Amino acid sequence: MFDNLSEKLGGILDRLTGRGALSEADVDAAMREIRRALLEADVALEVVRSFTERVREQAIGATVVKSVKPGQMVVKIVNDELIATLGSEGQSIDLNAVPPVPIMMVGLQGSGKTTTTAKLARRLTERDKRKVLMASLDVYRPAAMEQLAVLGRDLSIDTLPIVAGQQPPDIARRAMEAGKLGGYDVVLLDTAGRTTLDEEMMTEAAEIKAAANPHEVLLVADSLTGQDAVNLARAFDQRVGLTGIVLTRIDGDGRGGAALSMRAVTGKPIKLMGTGEKTDALEDFHPDRIASRILG
Ligand code: GDP
Repeated sequence: MFDNLSEKLGGILDRLTGRGALSEADVDAAMREIRRALLEADVALEVVRSFTERVREQAIGATVVKSVKPGQMVVKIVNDELIATLGSEGQSIDLNAVPPVPIMMVGLQGSGKTTTTAKLARRLTERDKRKVLMASLDVYRPAAMEQLAVLGRDLSIDTLPIVAGQQPPDIARRAMEAGKLGGYDVVLLDTAGRTTLDEEMMTEAAEIKAAANPHEVLLVADSLTGQDAVNLARAFDQRVGLTGIVLTRIDGDGRGGAALSMRAVTGKPIKLMGTGEKTDALEDFHPDRIASRILG
């Protein structure tokens, strides 16, 4: 089988072993395969362009030594650049503020916001020993509010009591008030998503942000998102100012290109990854794992 990038680049470049430095022509042949691999991994086109340009610059003129095959050498350049672009590990949630620390979750409907809110609440409670209050601001789907309440009951983590008819910014203010009065360390605000990017969702997110002044604004995004990932991340970052990204459904069979796309356009760290439906399926971000998935 010659279907992974490493083998393809080997096929193109390994005949050059011992011939000095990689020329532009050698590298350009390899770049076509790299571009194809990234597109197949669902990396957005504009990100593929800038990424391959950086790899190209590093690869041209690289000395071909006898001990390392040229194909492997370029794969290493691609891998290192992927990891560098994806960012470093250990970018944890920043709780360094006066409690209750507000954390706002944004994203499209179905991206995993509510589940991630519960996962994060569980981690902060069990691992970090914080007292957490969760609040659903999804006034459009009463089932979403109920879903968070059920998760809270299962985890023995408090949720803000539901008051019918209240608008999201008012719920955010009430959550912060309850957070102060109840001596909570962290207040997690689970906002409503829409099925597509729309102006209403962005306006509402901006209003909630103004009301709660969140210390972290986390974009919860499905790692299976393809070309749309850049628009999604860019729109949320421009309108509400993200502090980090949580990638969900890493357990799926997606190739992880969305991670590279979102990180590249926003420059914001990917802080966590969701690896399953259960509330303990939340892990720190590991760029090397995503890089090897993208490489196939
Ligand atoms: P929301 O509309 O953004 O609040 O999305 P939900 O939290 O309701 O999640 C939508 C669906 O995705 C639910 O069935 C979740 O169980 C599922 N889900 C969320 N995160 C993950 C994950 O990391 N892996 C898997 N396999 N499923 C997830």
